[in-house]
Amino acid sequence: MIINLQKNLSAAAGRELLPALARLLPGCRLRRAPSGLAAAVPDPRGAADAVPRIENLPGVAGVLLSHAELCPLACARDKRTFSKPLDFRRGPVFIAGPCAVEEEKSYLASALALKAAGAHALRAALFKPRSSPYAFQGIGWPGLKIIAKAKKLTGLPLVTEATDTRQVGRLSAVCDILQVGARNMRNYELLKEAGRSGRAVLLKRAMHATLKEWLLSAEYLLRHGAKELLLCERGDSVFSSDSPGLDLGLMREAKKLTGLPVLADPSHASRNREIAGTLAVRALRAGADGLLIEASVSPETARVDGRQTLTVASFRALTGK
Ligand code: PEP
Ligand code: MN
Repeated sequence: MIINLQKNLSAAAGRELLPALARLLPGCRLRRAPSGLAAAVPDPRGAADAVPRIENLPGVAGVLLSHAELCPLACARDKRTFSKPLDFRRGPVFIAGPCAVEEEKSYLASALALKAAGAHALRAALFKPRSSPYAFQGIGWPGLKIIAKAKKLTGLPLVTEATDTRQVGRLSAVCDILQVGARNMRNYELLKEAGRSGRAVLLKRAMHATLKEWLLSAEYLLRHGAKELLLCERGDSVFSSDSPGLDLGLMREAKKLTGLPVLADPSHASRNREIAGTLAVRALRAGADGLLIEASVSPETARVDGRQTLTVASFRALTGK
């Protein structure tokens, strides 16, 4: 922790701060730093709580915490293994499926075709967070038996988005990985509930969220019990295909700091299936551990995101199967 002191603070005033800092940061060791003081704190979790009170002290200009101090669990990279339900040891992992589950026949056809084309898990979204309240919101609970059937038929794990805390328990009973979508990355009650579910969680980066915000949301999940966690970079675009892109630098930084598997979602980053294919290749070359990607047997009739959904043939070209 760096405690920046106000410029021109006298040595005496600086010394007066020391007992207050010792009280707020029990067990800390302080040394001089170019802009003030550097504090080595035995338990960084207490440090985050103490920051506002340290900033109240006269003479303190501000406090900086490193990613590892802010997110000790998310940044505990060396103690980490991801053991289930996906296997990241044999190359990139592909989670594929339509944007939303719409009806049984086409979903099961997609599930089987995508498995044959190299999918390791299925997108199985029943609840869709839509920008318009008039747009298709997902088929909801009636879809649970459809995705359960797809799981039985293919043997593939299911990835589904929970958009509300009240969905977590019932979705967890059938699905293997709970997705926290970009819009909900900052929904802290949902993060706590997903962490407590005992299921693996896939956490997307919110549009325009910084690395720090993303890691803090990961920290919520781990703090509340998540044992298996995947991160997923999905870019900053919501509606437009004008500025498609994934922040691959940020994706790599997240991977380096956390040691967690980090996926890329080229579909929502591009809003266009040709660009999605190109971004997918770029993300894998940049070190993505896998892809969350929209693909189905019938993109042209999809009620949601059909234009960015890959055909099964294009998906197969990506997996190389
Ligand atoms: C999705 O993956 O289904 C989705 C809604 O994406 P995002 O949360 O990234 O917008
Ligand atoms: Mn979509």
